[in-house]
Amino acid sequence: MKDLRIKRLTVRQYNWTFRDMGTDYNGFNQVYLKGATCNEVWYSYQLETEGGVTGEYIGAMGGVTAAQVAMVAQYLIGRNAFERELIWNDLKRALRQVDGYGLAPIDCALWDIAGKTYGVPVHQLLGGWRKSLPCYASTLHGDENGGLDSPEAFGDFAVQCKELGYPAFKIHGWGNGPIKREVATVLATRKAVGDDMDLMIDPACEYNTWAEALKVGRACDEANFFWYEDPYKDGGHSAFAAKKLRQLIKTPILLGEHIRGIEVKVDGIIAEGADFVRAGIHSEGGITGVMKLAHVAEGFGLDVELHGPGAATRQCMASIRNTNFYELGLVHPKVPGRHAQVPVYGDGYSDDLEAVDRHGCVPVPEGPGLGVDINWDWLDRHETGKVVYD
Ligand SMILES: [Mg+2]
Repeated sequence: MKDLRIKRLTVRQYNWTFRDMGTDYNGFNQVYLKGATCNEVWYSYQLETEGGVTGEYIGAMGGVTAAQVAMVAQYLIGRNAFERELIWNDLKRALRQVDGYGLAPIDCALWDIAGKTYGVPVHQLLGGWRKSLPCYASTLHGDENGGLDSPEAFGDFAVQCKELGYPAFKIHGWGNGPIKREVATVLATRKAVGDDMDLMIDPACEYNTWAEALKVGRACDEANFFWYEDPYKDGGHSAFAAKKLRQLIKTPILLGEHIRGIEVKVDGIIAEGADFVRAGIHSEGGITGVMKLAHVAEGFGLDVELHGPGAATRQCMASIRNTNFYELGLVHPKVPGRHAQVPVYGDGYSDDLEAVDRHGCVPVPEGPGLGVDINWDWLDRHETGKVVYD
């Protein structure tokens, strides 16, 4: 066995622009805006071991994550990269007063080291369940700029996605606007695609009141939606309010994307605040946290649904029975997706609109570790900073 003590952590910062994208009314949601550009800052993380195996991770997480990694970087030097559980629990405590996002890139890089050490993809270490991942097209937020700017536009795009093979489609509506338009979008999208496509809506905690959440929930019932996600400005925190909503509507509620910690999510399940359990690579502390939560949900007889696309997400979903869809996005009918504009991965890896096969599925990366080659040549040309910890 190679020497798996961690020798060095290198964090690189990148800067690039995303074309035909702007922001909505309050500057938070990225939305389609022809001719505009959005500036983005990304980071990559490389964990080198004494034996020469390097774990690599890059993800769409900003400076908050890099700052948390900086808090724990020196702790990592000299640790055994195969002691993931020990490191995960130590970092969970170390980052307890922040949101814990810094745990994710470290944990994913450690799993990358494990896979590369054994020469297998991570899903083989986790225990493979599937090789092909059914996707839902997860839209960009609604805009006022000639893109997804009306109920009919969402309906038309859902039809386009259905024709591409997608079995499911998720609406991210508007951040600011009449609740009647949200209701109309739910109904128009169902009408456009017919009965044989699963539909979801994710207001991402935009609605102002519980009553607005109820109105849209009743529309979801009428349109037979598959799930209704984080509806209003409780921030996805109130299991009590979600339970009250569940008593009045029949559409399953997905909750948990905006709360942190397995214990808190279990409390939400026991309080009957969720039908589907949310887990995410970044929010759960990487692959280790996602798999813990998936098995927690399994113990309750529930399904866990993974947030956002990415190689680590694919490795996890390949290894979980009790889950339904891979979130492919965010997609839009008029703007090329993130990987078409920002090719951080090689090997033809893509989470763009047309990445799915005719059954609406994407493959599980089969290379060692996380299974994808990072496009370092392209990244080098966009590097704006570097910190080395050793
Ligand atoms: Mg969401």
